[in-house]
Amino acid sequence: MNDDLFNLIERIANLLRQETRFEGQSLGLQPIQQEALYYLSTCNKYSDTTLAVTDFLGLTKGTVSQSLKILESKALIIREKDSNDKRITHLKVTEKGKAFLSTTCPPKKFTESVNELTNEQQNETAKFLSEILKNYQKSTGRTAFGVCINCKFNQRTSEGFLCGLTKETLTTEDTTLICREFV
Ligand code: SF4
Repeated sequence: MNDDLFNLIERIANLLRQETRFEGQSLGLQPIQQEALYYLSTCNKYSDTTLAVTDFLGLTKGTVSQSLKILESKALIIREKDSNDKRITHLKVTEKGKAFLSTTCPPKKFTESVNELTNEQQNETAKFLSEILKNYQKSTGRTAFGVCINCKFNQRTSEGFLCGLTKETLTTEDTTLICREFV
């Protein structure tokens, strides 16, 4: 293995964490709270529960619950009961939450740095990183939380998209979100 790869990815991840911490100061948010907020802005309706956030972040339920309470107290997320199953509570990002994420996630300086590459370079880099992520997920067995369109249950029908697992129709936007049931 090329050792530079690990060092570079680790360094970028570290810088992103530092920048994220800095960006979160405007709302008094800790990085973990921002990570939860960002996750909720990218996941689908099967994955926006406290349990799914806990699984995704790999933290204890207590820590995640505390972070979600803070996001709720700052009106960045709201809780909504599932229309079919009242036992399920969805966590939805509010307009205020979306506005915050639109200026901080990814951090502005990261976007500027990536934009110094050509579109072709950006696409190539995304392709290689995506391959590494896929291989890494496979070898660790942590294959959930993939993008819906790449899931084996995602079916294209004459009327649009269908989830073969839940038998529910999916919008085009749904297929771009991440899902804890992804296979
Ligand atoms: S097709 Fe797969 S990723 Fe998409 S909603 Fe269904 S289980 Fe989730």
